[in-house]
This record gives sequence, structure tokens and C-alpha cells, in this order.
Amino acid sequence: MSTPNDMLRNELLDRRSRLEIVQKNSMDMSQIQDLLASVDHALGHMDKGDYGLCDVCHEPIEKDRLLADPLARLCLAHLTPGQQHDLEEDLQLAAQIQKEMLPKPLVEHAGWVIAHHYAPAGLVSGDYCDVLTSSEDTVSFMLGDVSGKGLAASMLMGQLHAMLRTLTALGLPLTQAVERASRGFCESTLPTHFATLVCGRAHRSGTVELCNAGHHPALLVQGDSIIPLEATGLPIGLFCNEKFLEKSVRLQPGNSLVLFTDGLTEMEDESGRPYGTERLIELVRNNSSAAPQVMVRTILDDWTKFRGPGFKVDDMTLMAIRRKGDSSSRQ
Ligand SMILES: [Zn+2]
Repeated sequence: MSTPNDMLRNELLDRRSRLEIVQKNSMDMSQIQDLLASVDHALGHMDKGDYGLCDVCHEPIEKDRLLADPLARLCLAHLTPGQQHDLEEDLQLAAQIQKEMLPKPLVEHAGWVIAHHYAPAGLVSGDYCDVLTSSEDTVSFMLGDVSGKGLAASMLMGQLHAMLRTLTALGLPLTQAVERASRGFCESTLPTHFATLVCGRAHRSGTVELCNAGHHPALLVQGDSIIPLEATGLPIGLFCNEKFLEKSVRLQPGNSLVLFTDGLTEMEDESGRPYGTERLIELVRNNSSAAPQVMVRTILDDWTKFRGPGFKVDDMTLMAIRRKGDSSSRQ
């Protein structure tokens, strides 16, 4: 099995050969020669076994940044003001791109209403959230969490977003779409990266197919009864040939599903106590007939109140999916 360093080495060798091709066809050689020297410098350190250390303090450079730029030579603390400014601009741009990948805050389609809230811990997030109105009679929704945080996680999130959009558009059965996404993710990312994911397809008839790859349970809200729907498989991207199962549930008008990432339940208050699933379930039960946007807002308000001021937050995403209609008319 290849290690992250093997992959970075291949990445560097690939850049080297591409630079050599450009060099042959280019008039302005100085920039290419500088880049070639940087690649050789990095490869040299790899051979010596001290690749990825800061030129100034000799501490390891942040992993995220090396993955995004294998030629990085300074840790965050030792970037020049100009370099820090450039990095800040890159992050702002990445945040803007990520924001544009999000679904509309409220989607109504095929007899369903879906609301979400997406809150990155920093500028960018490793959480994944999408809603696709793929056919007249179905709406697909996805919520997931890529391992890690920051820029590298957000890049993988973008990759997952593109893959699942394409696979969903092909109209594949849900488990096949997740299996292919898992294979794609496994083959194209570092071995230490994986993602947990809930993919659902809600039909006009009230049936919802759910495939939960190692993610927190989806909460099925049927009046006072809140049923956690547990994972049906491992996280995606752990192994290249994983198989996934789906579960099918039927929602009556007024019933809902609530999905969330661990930034919600693992948030700690000032005493170190986590928000927890029990508190969430109780809150959902007390608001079981709420419209999705109200459900999302209510949970968010309670979570914000719980965490107290000044606490470090993780990426957090929340989604509520409700079958339209009056819950009093059910059964
Ligand atoms: Zn340093």
C-alpha cells in the first residue's frame, strides 16, 4: 500500500516531467528553472528523509498545506506577510467556491421540503451537503463528513460533490452510486482519507431509500416517536471494493428526517460536556411537527446557546427533510 509520502513523491515527479516538457517549448526559462529547482529540492529532502520540515524552525509543515502544495517550505508561523496574504486570499476564494456548491437553503420538490444549515469551523469545511431534484418524482439528498479539516478536507469535499452529482444524474440505484463514489474516492485520495455519508432518495409516494456509510444515524421523526436509522455500511473510501446496503422507510405526510454531522453532537459546553444525541432527540421530539426550516433554526439556536461563548467549533451541518402535508391526517 502506498503511503502519503509515496504519493507526494509521485506528485512531485509528475510535476517535474511536466515542467521539462514546458521547458522545451518555452522562451522564458527563468520561472521554469526556479520551479524545477524547487521540485528537485523537495525530492532531495525526500531522499534524505527530512521532507516537509519548515526551513526556519525545522518543525513539520502543516499536513493540509503540504497536500495542497507539495513545494511548501515554511510552516504557517514562518510565512512572510506577503505569503500570508496570498494564503488568506486562496482560502477566501476556496470558501467562495465551496459556498457556491451548496444547495439552496430551502428546496421544495416532489412533495418534499428540505432545509439545511452549513457552518464551516474556519473559512472552508470538510462537511458535504447537497440536494438534487434529479427527476420529477424524486429528490436526492446527501450529507457527509470528510476526515480532517481545512483546505485539504474541503478539496476532498469538492471531489465527493462532483462525483455524486454525476452518479446521481446517471440514475443509478442508490447503493451502486455510493459504491462507485467510494471506489473513486479510494483510488484518488490519500489512504488516510475517508468520508462518512448519508445518501437518500425521497419519492413522491413517501418512500425514502437511505444508504448510510458509517455516518451518524438519521433521525426518523414520526410524531412523538424518534427512530435513529443506523449506518448500513462502513465509511466510503476506506477500501476500494466496499459494498453498501440501503434501507427503505416510508414517511407519512408531516413526518421528517433529521441529518447532522458530528460538529453538532460533539460540541462541548464550558464544562466539557458534549451536546450529545439525547439532547438532540429530545429537542426534535418537542418540535416534531415543525417545518424543516423551523426545525433547523430551533436546533441551531439550542446548539448555539449550549456551546457558550468563545468555544472552538468543528464543521457543522444540519438538514431536515419533511414530507409535505398535515401530520394529523396520517394513518
Ligand atoms: Zn517554521
